[in-house]
Amino acid sequence: MTTKQLPFSKQQLEKITEQYPTPFHIYDEKGIREYARKFNRTFSWNPGFKEYYAIKSAPNPYLMKIMREEGFGIDCSSFAELVIAEQLGMSGDEIMFTSNDTPAYEYQKAIDLGAIINLDDISHIEYLEKNVGLPQLVCFRYNPGSLKDGNTIIGHPEEAKYGFTREQLFEGYQMLKDKGVKRFGLHTMVASNELDAAYFVETAQILFDLIVEIKQKVGITIEFANLGGGIGIPYRPTDQPVDLDFMSQGIKKLYQEKIELNGLSPLRIYFESGRAMTGPFGFLVSKVLHIKKTYKQYAGLDSSMANLMRPALYGSYHHITVMGKEYEPQDQVYDVTGSLCENNDKFAINRQLPKMEQGDLVVIHDTGAHGHAMGFNYNGKLRSAELLLRENGEVVQIRRAETLNDYFGTLDLAGLKDFKV
Ligand SMILES: *Cc1c(COP(=O)(O)O)cnc(C)c1O
Repeated sequence: MTTKQLPFSKQQLEKITEQYPTPFHIYDEKGIREYARKFNRTFSWNPGFKEYYAIKSAPNPYLMKIMREEGFGIDCSSFAELVIAEQLGMSGDEIMFTSNDTPAYEYQKAIDLGAIINLDDISHIEYLEKNVGLPQLVCFRYNPGSLKDGNTIIGHPEEAKYGFTREQLFEGYQMLKDKGVKRFGLHTMVASNELDAAYFVETAQILFDLIVEIKQKVGITIEFANLGGGIGIPYRPTDQPVDLDFMSQGIKKLYQEKIELNGLSPLRIYFESGRAMTGPFGFLVSKVLHIKKTYKQYAGLDSSMANLMRPALYGSYHHITVMGKEYEPQDQVYDVTGSLCENNDKFAINRQLPKMEQGDLVVIHDTGAHGHAMGFNYNGKLRSAELLLRENGEVVQIRRAETLNDYFGTLDLAGLKDFKV
């Protein structure tokens, strides 16, 4: 029996598939809003607290519009993501621009929108000054190196390409100060999909200690500590979600000890979480096309890793529900596959599931972050639609499925006729 909840019934889903053919991703507005409110409430002790949704996780402006209404800002790292912010009328300190290896025109766009600029490297201070000009407020991304363990998705901080070393931070803030910059922030992001709340308390401690030291050595006051993203979600039915209260209380205690007692408050606490905000509230809906029995038993779906690449890329677990068979014995073992000519194209390997048949509706859970977003067109696969289940039960399409015209749109097929070989 499945122990993960769905926001729709089999009947509802069948009705939806009459209008929108599978495969598609569908997002649950109620779930997104409830988690957003809980997150904000948990940190309401901190004046100015803000979550900047990492838009790369699900770059759909309709979802962002909902989260903005719940008080979230947007965390962008590319030109297109800044344009999403612009389309929504977001500007100023609603936008965090946390990029790396950044071209000048992206900095220019970010500065035009008044975004908070989070620099990834000390050399970018001069690059930014020369090409665009320095804004009033600048943030640095810190890489703690061997001082902190990473985890498998993001790797060890020492091996990670991101951020300033500890020494560079002090040097960098001094440079900014000498160049007349007046306002400062500090950021780090060292984990991905981390489920242990204590990890984030420890991250806060590292930043708070640094903020005290920066005040002493450089004489500047940091306005905000951006704790990054990386809050994990319970992909497996046995996983526990991150204990937000524990995390918030742990950070609050450190805030009192290190920030308030040193006269450095108010310090705004920011997150730029992606996965936790939408991941559990998205679902990839697919149908069984074929059951195949060779050396193993396969359930072939009408979607593929072009719709969800996490299992193939990271070996990630995504829970699977066969609609209407939730209470049947899970006495079969399947590899659940897609149709790419790529043997990695498996949503699950050796998964215990109920007996499946052609036409069964299959829901793959937790695809609301890094799901549709990571889609691609390999093997001529077209990217699916994105639907939104509204709080009143209505379903709206928030992105249509790609067509062959989209796929061939970048080719000059007329020119092909004149191309002599
Ligand atoms: C990916 C990313 C995030 C969001 O990470 P999640 O694990 O989805 O919370 C935040 N900040 C930066 C700079 C990122 O690259």
